[in-house]
Amino acid sequence: MTAILMPVPDQSILARRREIVAALQGIVPGEGVIDDETEMRPYETDALTAYRQMPLIVVLPETVEQVSQVLCYCHENGVKVVPRGAGTSLSGGALPLADGVLLSMMKFNQVLDIDFANRCVTVQPGVTNLGVTRAVEHEGFYYAPDPSSQIACSVGGNIAENSGGVHCLKYGLTTNNVLGLEMVLITGEVIRLGGKHLDSEGYDLLALMTGSEGLLGVVTEVTLRILQKPETARALLVGFPTSEDGGRCVAEIIANGIIPGGMEMMDKLAIDAAEAFVNAGYPLDVEALLIVELDGPEAEVNDLIERVEAIALKNKASHIRISTSEEERMTFWAGRKAAFPAVGRISPDYLCMDGTIPRRELPKVLAGMRDLSEKHGLRVANVFHAGDGNLHPLILYDANKPGELEAAEAFGADILRLCVAVGGVLTGEHGVGIEKRDLMPEMFSEDDLKQQQRVKCAFDENHLLNPGKVFPVLHRCAELGRMHVHKGKLPFPDIPRF
Ligand SMILES: Cc1cc2nc3c(=O)[nH]c(=O)nc-3n(C[C@H](O)[C@H](O)[C@H](O)COP(=O)(O)OP(=O)(O)OC[C@H]3O[C@@H](n4cnc5c(N)ncnc54)[C@H](O)[C@@H]3O)c2cc1C
Repeated sequence: MTAILMPVPDQSILARRREIVAALQGIVPGEGVIDDETEMRPYETDALTAYRQMPLIVVLPETVEQVSQVLCYCHENGVKVVPRGAGTSLSGGALPLADGVLLSMMKFNQVLDIDFANRCVTVQPGVTNLGVTRAVEHEGFYYAPDPSSQIACSVGGNIAENSGGVHCLKYGLTTNNVLGLEMVLITGEVIRLGGKHLDSEGYDLLALMTGSEGLLGVVTEVTLRILQKPETARALLVGFPTSEDGGRCVAEIIANGIIPGGMEMMDKLAIDAAEAFVNAGYPLDVEALLIVELDGPEAEVNDLIERVEAIALKNKASHIRISTSEEERMTFWAGRKAAFPAVGRISPDYLCMDGTIPRRELPKVLAGMRDLSEKHGLRVANVFHAGDGNLHPLILYDANKPGELEAAEAFGADILRLCVAVGGVLTGEHGVGIEKRDLMPEMFSEDDLKQQQRVKCAFDENHLLNPGKVFPVLHRCAELGRMHVHKGKLPFPDIPRF
Protein backbone atom coordinates (compact mmCIF):
# COMPACT_ATOMS: atom_id res chain seq x y z
CA MET A 1 0.00 0.00 0.00
CA THR A 2 1.26 3.51 -0.73
CA ALA A 3 1.60 6.83 0.96
CA ILE A 4 -1.75 8.46 0.16
CA LEU A 5 -3.93 8.50 3.27
CA MET A 6 -7.72 8.34 3.24
CA PRO A 7 -10.15 9.51 5.94
CA VAL A 8 -10.14 7.11 8.90
CA PRO A 9 -13.27 4.87 8.68
CA ASP A 10 -16.04 5.78 11.12
CA GLN A 11 -16.32 2.78 13.48
CA SER A 12 -19.92 3.60 14.38
CA ILE A 13 -20.90 3.25 10.69
CA LEU A 14 -19.01 -0.04 10.36
CA ALA A 15 -20.83 -1.34 13.44
CA ARG A 16 -24.21 -0.46 11.86
CA ARG A 17 -23.51 -2.21 8.54
CA ARG A 18 -26.34 -4.78 8.83
CA GLU A 19 -28.88 -2.09 9.61
CA ILE A 20 -27.66 0.11 6.72
CA VAL A 21 -27.82 -2.83 4.25
CA ALA A 22 -31.40 -3.57 5.33
CA ALA A 23 -32.46 0.06 4.94
CA LEU A 24 -30.92 0.34 1.46
CA GLN A 25 -32.49 -2.98 0.40
CA GLY A 26 -35.79 -1.40 1.31
CA ILE A 27 -35.08 1.41 -1.18
CA VAL A 28 -33.42 -0.59 -3.99
CA PRO A 29 -34.94 -4.08 -3.95
CA GLY A 30 -33.77 -7.29 -5.65
CA GLU A 31 -30.17 -7.37 -6.84
CA GLY A 32 -29.70 -3.62 -6.43
CA VAL A 33 -27.75 -3.94 -3.17
CA ILE A 34 -24.54 -6.00 -3.06
CA ASP A 35 -23.10 -6.75 0.37
CA ASP A 36 -21.33 -10.06 -0.26
CA GLU A 37 -17.54 -9.65 -0.15
CA THR A 38 -16.83 -11.72 -3.28
CA GLU A 39 -19.46 -9.89 -5.31
CA MET A 40 -18.18 -6.49 -4.14
CA ARG A 41 -14.59 -7.36 -5.18
CA PRO A 42 -14.86 -5.96 -8.77
CA TYR A 43 -15.64 -2.56 -7.25
CA GLU A 44 -12.59 -2.32 -4.98
CA THR A 45 -10.58 -0.20 -7.42
CA ASP A 46 -10.85 1.89 -10.59
CA ALA A 47 -8.16 2.28 -13.27
CA LEU A 48 -5.72 3.65 -10.67
CA THR A 49 -5.16 0.06 -9.66
CA ALA A 50 -2.31 0.74 -7.23
CA TYR A 51 -5.05 1.62 -4.72
CA ARG A 52 -7.72 -0.78 -3.50
CA GLN A 53 -10.38 -0.56 -0.85
CA MET A 54 -13.49 -2.69 -0.34
CA PRO A 55 -16.62 -0.54 -0.01
CA LEU A 56 -19.09 -0.85 2.88
CA ILE A 57 -21.87 -1.77 0.42
CA VAL A 58 -22.47 -1.45 -3.32
CA VAL A 59 -25.82 -0.01 -4.43
CA LEU A 60 -27.06 -0.02 -8.04
CA PRO A 61 -30.19 2.13 -8.30
CA GLU A 62 -32.34 2.12 -11.43
CA THR A 63 -34.51 5.21 -10.97
CA VAL A 64 -33.96 8.83 -10.00
CA GLU A 65 -36.39 8.30 -7.13
CA GLN A 66 -34.16 5.51 -5.78
CA VAL A 67 -31.02 7.67 -6.08
CA SER A 68 -32.84 10.43 -4.23
CA GLN A 69 -33.97 8.11 -1.43
CA VAL A 70 -30.52 6.50 -1.07
CA LEU A 71 -28.82 9.90 -0.80
CA CYS A 72 -31.48 11.19 1.59
CA TYR A 73 -30.97 8.12 3.81
CA CYS A 74 -27.18 8.52 3.74
CA HIS A 75 -27.50 12.22 4.54
CA GLU A 76 -29.76 11.60 7.51
CA ASN A 77 -27.56 8.76 8.80
CA GLY A 78 -24.13 10.28 8.20
CA VAL A 79 -23.11 7.61 5.66
CA LYS A 80 -20.54 8.56 3.01
CA VAL A 81 -21.26 7.97 -0.71
CA VAL A 82 -18.84 7.42 -3.60
CA PRO A 83 -20.57 7.75 -7.00
CA ARG A 84 -19.23 5.41 -9.69
CA GLY A 85 -19.65 5.09 -13.45
CA ALA A 86 -17.61 2.52 -15.37
CA GLY A 87 -14.64 2.71 -12.97
CA THR A 88 -12.07 3.81 -15.58
CA SER A 89 -10.85 6.84 -13.63
CA LEU A 90 -7.08 7.15 -13.74
CA SER A 91 -6.95 9.44 -10.71
CA GLY A 92 -8.72 7.18 -8.19
CA GLY A 93 -11.92 9.25 -8.27
CA ALA A 94 -14.12 6.17 -7.84
CA LEU A 95 -11.95 4.50 -5.15
CA PRO A 96 -14.41 3.20 -2.50
CA LEU A 97 -14.39 4.00 1.20
CA ALA A 98 -14.53 1.27 3.87
CA ASP A 99 -17.36 3.14 5.60
CA GLY A 100 -19.08 4.40 2.45
CA VAL A 101 -21.75 3.29 -0.02
CA LEU A 102 -20.43 2.79 -3.54
CA LEU A 103 -23.24 4.11 -5.73
CA SER A 104 -22.90 2.54 -9.19
CA MET A 105 -24.83 4.41 -11.91
CA MET A 106 -24.36 1.77 -14.60
CA LYS A 107 -28.03 0.71 -14.65
CA PHE A 108 -28.84 4.20 -15.93
CA ASN A 109 -28.05 3.10 -19.49
CA GLN A 110 -30.84 4.49 -21.68
CA VAL A 111 -30.72 7.00 -24.52
CA LEU A 112 -33.77 9.12 -23.66
CA ASP A 113 -34.13 11.59 -26.53
CA ILE A 114 -32.44 12.28 -29.87
CA ASP A 115 -33.16 15.74 -31.24
CA PHE A 116 -31.42 16.28 -34.58
CA ALA A 117 -33.22 19.60 -35.13
CA ASN A 118 -31.67 21.01 -31.96
CA ARG A 119 -28.48 19.00 -32.46
CA CYS A 120 -28.56 17.41 -29.05
CA VAL A 121 -29.18 14.11 -27.34
CA THR A 122 -30.37 13.34 -23.81
CA VAL A 123 -28.99 10.22 -22.15
CA GLN A 124 -28.75 8.58 -18.76
CA PRO A 125 -25.28 8.84 -17.17
CA GLY A 126 -24.42 5.13 -17.49
CA VAL A 127 -24.50 5.28 -21.32
CA THR A 128 -20.95 4.92 -22.63
CA ASN A 129 -19.23 7.80 -24.39
CA LEU A 130 -19.13 5.82 -27.64
CA GLY A 131 -22.77 4.83 -27.11
CA VAL A 132 -23.75 8.46 -27.70
CA THR A 133 -22.09 8.51 -31.13
CA ARG A 134 -23.52 5.07 -31.94
CA ALA A 135 -27.03 6.41 -31.21
CA VAL A 136 -26.76 9.28 -33.70
CA GLU A 137 -24.28 8.20 -36.40
CA HIS A 138 -27.00 6.85 -38.72
CA GLU A 139 -27.86 10.50 -39.48
CA GLY A 140 -24.20 11.54 -39.91
CA PHE A 141 -23.81 12.97 -36.38
CA TYR A 142 -21.32 12.24 -33.59
CA TYR A 143 -20.37 13.30 -30.06
CA ALA A 144 -17.00 15.07 -30.24
CA PRO A 145 -15.16 14.53 -26.89
CA ASP A 146 -13.53 11.15 -27.40
CA PRO A 147 -11.44 9.80 -24.50
CA SER A 148 -9.35 6.77 -25.48
CA SER A 149 -11.50 4.84 -23.00
CA GLN A 150 -14.67 5.80 -24.91
CA ILE A 151 -15.78 2.22 -25.50
CA ALA A 152 -16.11 1.73 -21.72
CA CYS A 153 -16.30 5.03 -19.83
CA SER A 154 -19.70 6.48 -18.93
CA VAL A 155 -21.09 9.88 -19.76
CA GLY A 156 -21.62 10.50 -16.01
CA GLY A 157 -17.92 9.85 -15.41
CA ASN A 158 -17.06 12.14 -18.35
CA ILE A 159 -19.07 14.95 -16.75
CA ALA A 160 -17.48 14.37 -13.33
CA GLU A 161 -13.93 14.37 -14.77
CA ASN A 162 -14.50 16.91 -17.58
CA SER A 163 -12.97 14.33 -19.89
CA GLY A 164 -11.21 15.08 -23.12
CA GLY A 165 -9.73 13.28 -26.10
CA VAL A 166 -8.01 13.65 -29.42
CA HIS A 167 -10.69 15.89 -30.92
CA CYS A 168 -10.99 18.30 -27.99
CA LEU A 169 -8.38 20.68 -29.40
CA LYS A 170 -10.87 21.81 -32.02
CA TYR A 171 -14.23 20.83 -30.53
CA GLY A 172 -13.73 21.42 -26.80
CA LEU A 173 -13.72 19.26 -23.68
CA THR A 174 -16.83 17.79 -22.07
CA THR A 175 -17.64 21.14 -20.47
CA ASN A 176 -17.96 22.72 -23.94
CA ASN A 177 -20.37 20.02 -25.10
CA VAL A 178 -22.78 19.68 -22.17
CA LEU A 179 -26.04 21.57 -22.47
CA GLY A 180 -28.02 20.30 -19.50
CA LEU A 181 -27.92 18.08 -16.42
CA GLU A 182 -30.26 16.57 -13.91
CA MET A 183 -28.59 15.80 -10.61
CA VAL A 184 -29.48 14.62 -7.15
CA LEU A 185 -27.99 16.45 -4.19
CA ILE A 186 -26.84 14.68 -1.02
CA THR A 187 -30.08 15.81 0.64
CA GLY A 188 -32.07 13.87 -1.99
CA GLU A 189 -33.26 17.02 -3.77
CA VAL A 190 -33.36 16.76 -7.57
CA ILE A 191 -32.18 19.80 -9.55
CA ARG A 192 -32.01 20.58 -13.28
CA LEU A 193 -29.34 22.79 -14.80
CA GLY A 194 -29.38 24.13 -18.37
CA GLY A 195 -31.26 22.28 -21.10
CA LYS A 196 -31.52 22.30 -24.87
CA HIS A 197 -31.24 26.07 -24.96
CA LEU A 198 -27.82 27.65 -25.35
CA ASP A 199 -27.60 29.85 -22.26
CA SER A 200 -29.44 30.38 -19.01
CA GLU A 201 -29.74 33.00 -16.32
CA GLY A 202 -28.09 32.85 -12.91
CA TYR A 203 -24.77 31.37 -11.91
CA ASP A 204 -23.24 28.95 -14.39
CA LEU A 205 -23.74 25.90 -12.18
CA LEU A 206 -23.53 23.63 -15.21
CA ALA A 207 -19.87 24.54 -15.62
CA LEU A 208 -19.32 24.09 -11.88
CA MET A 209 -20.71 20.57 -11.98
CA THR A 210 -18.57 19.58 -14.97
CA GLY A 211 -15.32 18.44 -13.40
CA SER A 212 -16.70 18.28 -9.85
CA GLU A 213 -15.48 14.67 -9.47
CA GLY A 214 -18.57 13.34 -7.68
CA LEU A 215 -18.19 15.81 -4.79
CA LEU A 216 -21.25 17.99 -5.40
CA GLY A 217 -24.05 15.67 -6.51
CA VAL A 218 -24.96 12.58 -8.51
CA VAL A 219 -25.70 13.11 -12.21
CA THR A 220 -28.84 11.28 -13.35
CA GLU A 221 -29.45 12.76 -16.83
CA VAL A 222 -27.28 14.55 -19.38
CA THR A 223 -28.09 16.60 -22.48
CA LEU A 224 -25.15 16.74 -24.88
CA ARG A 225 -24.40 18.70 -28.04
CA ILE A 226 -23.89 16.54 -31.12
CA LEU A 227 -22.09 17.60 -34.30
CA GLN A 228 -22.39 16.71 -37.94
CA LYS A 229 -19.46 14.63 -39.18
CA PRO A 230 -17.00 16.74 -41.19
CA GLU A 231 -17.07 16.28 -44.99
CA THR A 232 -13.42 15.18 -45.13
CA ALA A 233 -10.66 14.22 -42.72
CA ARG A 234 -7.03 13.60 -43.68
CA ALA A 235 -3.98 13.08 -41.52
CA LEU A 236 -0.22 13.62 -41.71
CA LEU A 237 2.24 11.30 -39.99
CA VAL A 238 5.37 13.32 -39.27
CA GLY A 239 8.63 12.07 -37.75
CA PHE A 240 11.30 14.31 -36.16
CA PRO A 241 14.92 13.74 -35.13
CA THR A 242 14.19 15.23 -31.66
CA SER A 243 11.13 15.78 -29.47
CA GLU A 244 12.07 19.45 -29.27
CA ASP A 245 11.71 19.76 -33.09
CA GLY A 246 8.27 18.13 -32.83
CA GLY A 247 7.29 20.47 -29.98
CA ARG A 248 8.32 23.52 -31.99
CA CYS A 249 6.34 22.29 -35.01
CA VAL A 250 3.20 21.94 -32.85
CA ALA A 251 3.58 25.50 -31.53
CA GLU A 252 4.10 26.87 -35.03
CA ILE A 253 1.05 25.12 -36.51
CA ILE A 254 -1.19 26.73 -33.87
CA ALA A 255 0.60 30.09 -34.14
CA ASN A 256 -0.28 30.06 -37.85
CA GLY A 257 -3.97 29.98 -36.98
CA ILE A 258 -4.47 26.33 -37.92
CA ILE A 259 -6.64 24.32 -35.49
CA PRO A 260 -6.33 20.65 -36.43
CA GLY A 261 -9.13 18.22 -35.58
CA GLY A 262 -6.46 16.36 -33.60
CA MET A 263 -2.72 16.76 -33.04
CA GLU A 264 -1.03 13.99 -31.05
CA MET A 265 2.62 13.28 -30.32
CA MET A 266 4.53 10.20 -29.19
CA ASP A 267 8.16 9.84 -28.16
CA LYS A 268 10.60 7.09 -29.16
CA LEU A 269 9.67 4.61 -26.44
CA ALA A 270 5.95 4.98 -27.18
CA ILE A 271 6.51 4.77 -30.97
CA ASP A 272 8.48 1.54 -30.65
CA ALA A 273 5.92 -0.02 -28.29
CA ALA A 274 2.95 0.99 -30.49
CA GLU A 275 4.58 -0.21 -33.70
CA ALA A 276 5.46 -3.57 -32.16
CA PHE A 277 1.86 -3.91 -30.99
CA VAL A 278 -0.22 -2.85 -34.04
CA ASN A 279 2.18 -2.52 -37.03
CA ALA A 280 0.84 0.89 -38.00
CA GLY A 281 3.84 1.56 -40.25
CA TYR A 282 5.45 4.09 -37.92
CA PRO A 283 9.06 5.06 -38.71
CA LEU A 284 11.47 3.65 -36.13
CA ASP A 285 14.40 5.96 -36.89
CA VAL A 286 12.77 9.09 -35.40
CA GLU A 287 12.69 10.41 -31.82
CA ALA A 288 9.19 11.95 -32.02
CA LEU A 289 6.11 11.24 -34.09
CA LEU A 290 3.32 13.71 -34.69
CA ILE A 291 -0.13 12.85 -36.08
CA VAL A 292 -1.95 15.92 -37.38
CA GLU A 293 -5.53 15.52 -38.56
CA LEU A 294 -7.27 18.22 -40.57
CA ASP A 295 -11.02 18.07 -41.08
CA GLY A 296 -13.67 20.14 -42.85
CA PRO A 297 -14.60 20.83 -46.48
CA GLU A 298 -12.29 19.03 -48.91
CA ALA A 299 -10.73 22.13 -50.52
CA GLU A 300 -9.93 23.61 -47.11
CA VAL A 301 -8.44 20.36 -45.83
CA ASN A 302 -6.19 20.01 -48.90
CA ASP A 303 -4.94 23.57 -48.45
CA LEU A 304 -4.26 23.02 -44.72
CA ILE A 305 -2.40 19.77 -45.43
CA GLU A 306 0.03 21.69 -47.66
CA ARG A 307 0.54 24.40 -45.06
CA VAL A 308 1.17 21.90 -42.23
CA GLU A 309 3.60 19.96 -44.43
CA ALA A 310 5.58 23.15 -45.08
CA ILE A 311 5.71 23.97 -41.35
CA ALA A 312 6.85 20.41 -40.57
CA LEU A 313 9.69 20.58 -43.11
CA LYS A 314 10.77 23.94 -41.73
CA ASN A 315 11.01 22.26 -38.30
CA LYS A 316 13.35 19.50 -39.54
CA ALA A 317 10.77 16.77 -40.16
CA SER A 318 12.65 13.70 -41.39
CA HIS A 319 9.62 11.61 -42.35
CA ILE A 320 6.25 12.71 -43.74
CA ARG A 321 3.33 10.58 -44.92
CA ILE A 322 -0.04 12.01 -45.87
CA SER A 323 -3.12 9.80 -45.79
CA THR A 324 -4.71 9.23 -49.19
CA SER A 325 -7.56 7.03 -48.00
CA GLU A 326 -9.79 6.64 -44.98
CA GLU A 327 -8.12 3.29 -44.31
CA GLU A 328 -4.66 4.87 -44.22
CA ARG A 329 -5.86 7.65 -41.91
CA MET A 330 -7.27 5.04 -39.51
CA THR A 331 -3.97 3.13 -39.62
CA PHE A 332 -2.09 6.28 -38.57
CA TRP A 333 -4.39 6.52 -35.55
CA ALA A 334 -4.34 2.81 -34.72
CA GLY A 335 -0.91 3.00 -33.06
CA ARG A 336 -1.73 6.14 -31.09
CA LYS A 337 -5.03 4.72 -29.86
CA ALA A 338 -3.32 1.52 -28.75
CA ALA A 339 -0.35 3.31 -27.20
CA PHE A 340 -1.37 2.75 -23.56
CA PRO A 341 -1.89 -1.02 -23.86
CA ALA A 342 1.23 -1.14 -26.06
CA VAL A 343 3.30 0.39 -23.26
CA GLY A 344 1.64 -2.11 -20.90
CA ARG A 345 3.38 -4.85 -22.91
CA ILE A 346 6.88 -3.50 -22.27
CA SER A 347 6.54 -2.90 -18.54
CA PRO A 348 4.72 -4.82 -15.77
CA ASP A 349 3.19 -1.57 -14.46
CA TYR A 350 2.94 2.05 -15.43
CA LEU A 351 1.55 5.25 -13.94
CA CYS A 352 -0.22 7.53 -16.39
CA MET A 353 0.27 11.20 -15.50
CA ASP A 354 -1.84 14.05 -16.86
CA GLY A 355 -0.29 17.53 -16.60
CA THR A 356 -1.05 20.39 -18.95
CA ILE A 357 1.42 23.08 -19.99
CA PRO A 358 1.46 26.12 -22.26
CA ARG A 359 2.36 24.75 -25.72
CA ARG A 360 5.48 26.89 -26.07
CA GLU A 361 7.00 25.13 -23.02
CA LEU A 362 6.82 21.68 -24.64
CA PRO A 363 10.54 21.42 -25.58
CA LYS A 364 11.62 22.59 -22.10
CA VAL A 365 9.29 20.18 -20.27
CA LEU A 366 10.29 17.22 -22.45
CA ALA A 367 13.97 17.92 -21.70
CA GLY A 368 13.13 18.29 -17.99
CA MET A 369 11.38 14.93 -18.01
CA ARG A 370 14.48 13.26 -19.39
CA ASP A 371 16.51 14.64 -16.46
CA LEU A 372 13.85 13.47 -13.99
CA SER A 373 13.89 10.02 -15.58
CA GLU A 374 17.60 9.77 -14.78
CA LYS A 375 17.11 11.16 -11.28
CA HIS A 376 14.44 8.59 -10.38
CA GLY A 377 16.00 5.71 -12.32
CA LEU A 378 12.76 4.92 -14.19
CA ARG A 379 11.83 5.05 -17.87
CA VAL A 380 9.09 7.32 -19.15
CA ALA A 381 7.12 7.01 -22.39
CA ASN A 382 5.37 10.12 -23.65
CA VAL A 383 2.04 10.04 -25.41
CA PHE A 384 0.19 13.32 -25.47
CA HIS A 385 -2.43 15.65 -26.82
CA ALA A 386 0.24 17.97 -28.22
CA GLY A 387 -2.18 20.56 -29.59
CA ASP A 388 -3.60 21.52 -26.22
CA GLY A 389 -0.41 20.92 -24.22
CA ASN A 390 -1.92 17.98 -22.32
CA LEU A 391 0.88 15.56 -21.47
CA HIS A 392 0.43 11.89 -20.62
CA PRO A 393 3.82 10.70 -19.42
CA LEU A 394 3.65 6.96 -18.71
CA ILE A 395 6.11 6.11 -15.93
CA LEU A 396 7.26 2.51 -16.24
CA TYR A 397 7.85 0.53 -13.04
CA ASP A 398 7.49 -2.92 -11.51
CA ALA A 399 5.20 -3.05 -8.49
CA ASN A 400 6.87 -6.31 -7.41
CA LYS A 401 10.23 -4.58 -6.96
CA PRO A 402 10.37 -2.99 -3.51
CA GLY A 403 10.40 0.80 -3.66
CA GLU A 404 9.55 1.12 -7.38
CA LEU A 405 5.95 2.27 -6.91
CA GLU A 406 7.11 4.93 -4.44
CA ALA A 407 9.83 6.00 -6.91
CA ALA A 408 7.26 6.16 -9.72
CA GLU A 409 4.95 8.31 -7.57
CA ALA A 410 7.80 10.65 -6.63
CA PHE A 411 8.75 10.90 -10.33
CA GLY A 412 5.12 11.65 -11.23
CA ALA A 413 4.86 14.34 -8.55
CA ASP A 414 8.06 15.96 -9.88
CA ILE A 415 6.63 15.98 -13.42
CA LEU A 416 3.46 17.71 -12.22
CA ARG A 417 5.49 20.24 -10.22
CA LEU A 418 7.44 20.95 -13.41
CA CYS A 419 4.16 21.49 -15.29
CA VAL A 420 2.96 23.98 -12.65
CA ALA A 421 6.36 25.70 -12.59
CA VAL A 422 6.18 26.50 -16.33
CA GLY A 423 2.67 27.95 -15.98
CA GLY A 424 0.67 24.76 -16.49
CA VAL A 425 -1.80 22.83 -14.35
CA LEU A 426 -1.93 19.51 -12.46
CA THR A 427 -4.56 17.86 -14.62
CA GLY A 428 -5.76 18.18 -18.19
CA GLU A 429 -8.57 15.65 -18.23
CA HIS A 430 -8.10 12.82 -15.72
CA GLY A 431 -9.12 14.77 -12.63
CA VAL A 432 -7.45 15.23 -9.26
CA GLY A 433 -9.03 12.33 -7.35
CA ILE A 434 -6.59 10.92 -4.84
CA GLU A 435 -3.71 10.85 -7.31
CA LYS A 436 -3.03 14.59 -7.34
CA ARG A 437 -4.90 15.55 -4.17
CA ASP A 438 -1.79 16.17 -2.10
CA LEU A 439 -0.24 18.28 -4.87
CA MET A 440 -3.14 20.77 -4.92
CA PRO A 441 -1.20 23.26 -2.71
CA GLU A 442 1.47 23.39 -5.46
CA MET A 443 -1.18 24.96 -7.66
CA PHE A 444 -3.55 26.76 -5.29
CA SER A 445 -2.99 29.00 -2.27
CA GLU A 446 -4.62 28.20 1.07
CA ASP A 447 -7.19 30.92 0.32
CA ASP A 448 -7.93 29.45 -3.12
CA LEU A 449 -8.52 26.01 -1.60
CA LYS A 450 -10.68 27.38 1.21
CA GLN A 451 -12.90 29.19 -1.28
CA GLN A 452 -13.29 26.00 -3.34
CA GLN A 453 -14.24 24.12 -0.17
CA ARG A 454 -16.85 26.75 0.66
CA VAL A 455 -18.50 25.85 -2.65
CA LYS A 456 -18.36 22.19 -1.60
CA CYS A 457 -19.96 23.13 1.72
CA ALA A 458 -22.84 24.87 -0.06
CA PHE A 459 -23.74 21.50 -1.60
CA ASP A 460 -22.58 19.01 1.00
CA GLU A 461 -21.82 20.53 4.38
CA ASN A 462 -21.09 17.21 6.09
CA HIS A 463 -18.58 16.08 3.44
CA LEU A 464 -20.49 12.89 2.70
CA LEU A 465 -20.03 12.88 -1.10
CA ASN A 466 -16.70 11.38 -2.16
CA PRO A 467 -14.63 12.67 0.80
CA GLY A 468 -10.88 12.24 0.67
CA LYS A 469 -10.79 13.14 -3.03
CA VAL A 470 -9.55 16.43 -4.55
CA PHE A 471 -8.95 18.38 -1.30
CA PRO A 472 -5.73 17.71 0.64
CA VAL A 473 -7.27 18.75 3.97
CA LEU A 474 -10.92 18.49 4.99
CA HIS A 475 -12.17 21.53 6.88
CA ARG A 476 -15.34 21.48 8.90
CA CYS A 477 -17.61 23.83 6.98
CA ALA A 478 -18.25 25.98 10.04
CA GLU A 479 -14.56 26.76 10.43
CA LEU A 480 -14.02 27.88 6.85
CA GLY A 481 -15.24 31.39 7.51
CA ARG A 482 -12.59 32.09 10.12
CA MET A 483 -9.74 29.63 9.92
CA HIS A 484 -6.21 30.99 10.09
CA VAL A 485 -3.26 28.66 9.80
CA HIS A 486 -0.27 30.14 11.62
CA LYS A 487 3.15 28.63 10.97
CA GLY A 488 1.54 25.41 9.81
CA LYS A 489 -0.42 24.93 13.08
CA LEU A 490 -4.03 24.09 12.25
CA PRO A 491 -6.74 25.31 14.58
CA PHE A 492 -9.48 22.85 15.62
CA PRO A 493 -6.96 20.02 16.12
CA ASP A 494 -9.80 17.69 17.13
CA ILE A 495 -11.09 17.49 13.53
CA PRO A 496 -10.04 14.18 11.96
CA ARG A 497 -7.50 14.91 9.20
CA PHE A 498 -5.78 12.58 6.77
C1 LIG B 1 -7.12 3.07 -21.03
C2 LIG B 1 -7.71 4.37 -20.55
C3 LIG B 1 -7.64 5.48 -21.39
C4 LIG B 1 -8.16 6.69 -20.95
N1 LIG B 1 -8.13 7.75 -21.82
C5 LIG B 1 -8.67 8.93 -21.44
C6 LIG B 1 -8.65 10.04 -22.33
O1 LIG B 1 -8.18 9.97 -23.47
N2 LIG B 1 -9.20 11.20 -21.88
C7 LIG B 1 -9.76 11.31 -20.65
O2 LIG B 1 -10.25 12.39 -20.32
N3 LIG B 1 -9.79 10.27 -19.79
C8 LIG B 1 -9.27 9.09 -20.14
N4 LIG B 1 -9.30 8.03 -19.28
C9 LIG B 1 -9.85 8.22 -17.91
C10 LIG B 1 -11.34 7.86 -17.72
O3 LIG B 1 -11.79 6.97 -18.72
C11 LIG B 1 -12.22 9.11 -17.68
O4 LIG B 1 -11.89 9.90 -16.56
C12 LIG B 1 -13.73 8.80 -17.66
O5 LIG B 1 -14.48 9.97 -17.81
C13 LIG B 1 -14.19 8.12 -16.37
O6 LIG B 1 -15.51 7.65 -16.59
P1 LIG B 1 -16.10 6.43 -15.74
O7 LIG B 1 -17.49 6.21 -16.16
O8 LIG B 1 -15.20 5.26 -15.83
O9 LIG B 1 -16.07 7.06 -14.28
P2 LIG B 1 -15.57 6.42 -12.92
O10 LIG B 1 -14.14 6.01 -13.05
O11 LIG B 1 -16.52 5.41 -12.45
O12 LIG B 1 -15.66 7.69 -11.97
C14 LIG B 1 -14.87 8.83 -12.21
C15 LIG B 1 -15.35 9.97 -11.32
O13 LIG B 1 -16.65 10.34 -11.71
C16 LIG B 1 -17.56 10.30 -10.61
N5 LIG B 1 -18.83 9.88 -11.18
C17 LIG B 1 -19.07 8.82 -12.00
N6 LIG B 1 -20.36 8.80 -12.35
C18 LIG B 1 -20.96 9.85 -11.74
C19 LIG B 1 -22.28 10.36 -11.72
N7 LIG B 1 -23.29 9.79 -12.40
N8 LIG B 1 -22.54 11.47 -10.97
C20 LIG B 1 -21.56 12.07 -10.28
N9 LIG B 1 -20.29 11.63 -10.27
C21 LIG B 1 -20.00 10.54 -11.00
C22 LIG B 1 -16.90 9.33 -9.63
O14 LIG B 1 -17.27 9.61 -8.29
C23 LIG B 1 -15.43 9.62 -9.85
O15 LIG B 1 -15.03 10.73 -9.09
C24 LIG B 1 -8.76 6.80 -19.66
C25 LIG B 1 -8.83 5.68 -18.84
C26 LIG B 1 -8.31 4.49 -19.26
C27 LIG B 1 -8.40 3.31 -18.35
